[in-house]
Amino acid sequence: MRITVLSGGVGGARFLRGVRAWARREYPDGAGGSTAEITAIVNTGDDMWLTGLRISPDLDSIMYTLAGANDEERGWGRVGETERVSGELRAYDVGWPWFTLGDLDIGTHLARSHFLRSGIPLSEATARITARWDIGVRLLPVTDSEVETHVVVDESGTSQHFQEWWTRYRASVPALRFVQEGVESAEPAPGVLEAIADADVILIAPSNPVVSIGTILGIPGIRAALTAAKAPVVGVSPIINGAVVRGMADACLQAIGVATSADAVALHYGAKSSGGLLTAWLVDTSDAATAETISAAGIRTVVTPLWMRDVPTSSQLAADAVAAAG
Ligand code: GDP
Ligand code: CA
Repeated sequence: MRITVLSGGVGGARFLRGVRAWARREYPDGAGGSTAEITAIVNTGDDMWLTGLRISPDLDSIMYTLAGANDEERGWGRVGETERVSGELRAYDVGWPWFTLGDLDIGTHLARSHFLRSGIPLSEATARITARWDIGVRLLPVTDSEVETHVVVDESGTSQHFQEWWTRYRASVPALRFVQEGVESAEPAPGVLEAIADADVILIAPSNPVVSIGTILGIPGIRAALTAAKAPVVGVSPIINGAVVRGMADACLQAIGVATSADAVALHYGAKSSGGLLTAWLVDTSDAATAETISAAGIRTVVTPLWMRDVPTSSQLAADAVAAAG
């Protein structure tokens, strides 16, 4: 069973932890000769160079979460880390004072930057970095190219790096649009198109539809690969009860003219039967009223609890998503 998941950072990481738990239960190693292979295609639009380091927030959120090394309380970085290096950088007036990196996390960025500067592409650097942990999921950056999301904030075209708009200004500056700098010449990273073409089921994590999933879909070749894939494509709504669960994705949806509702996001992805992406879409029980609109558009709709409170609820969600593939 080959499962390919399109993923952003925190929402994607929680979902992947559930998919892995589900797979370990359904396919205990070697039993009956069948196994589950999970591949995550991960957003890299939030990546950036800062103080000489290449930072890949979504790849790292997933790696730390799957390794059990993430800081659950704070919501980012490594558990039990200090911030002494960031303090030193601030004293030198280097970097972004509003963007603190923990010391253990900086170790990851040093390793990644070392590989990249030696000419090793991000996909291979990610394989080497994740090899340290037995995470049970193959992580593929969507592209090896540096394609970064910028947020256009005024008519003259002034833009901010996504990270500044999101972390410094907490998405409070109205976004006119999102642009992927350098996307024209980008290609999917090695293994990405194969992971889509060879999958038995493709899952879209309940990640930000604009700056996580939208960024993945913007890399030339990805959308066409998904519409051509033989596998069903099942998405999980990141919207519950007409609101975002964690974070500020509503500010992103507003910028692209999509309402913050489970059905609007489903229609935005579109039905596979009419040239869009989705075979099926999971909505929360609180959004049951949206099911009719979604089904009418040709997308199989499954109403089920979508809150990922812990590993059991996340793995039940993964089971529901795979079952929805039919
Ligand atoms: P980021 O890269 O860290 O912003 O994370 P993602 O893009 O992967 O996920 C962010 C999205 O996850 C937000 O839009 C949330 O609405 C959604 N989300 C977070 N927790 C949950 C949850 O428990 N259930 C569902 N269905 N969505 C969630
Ligand atoms: Ca992200």
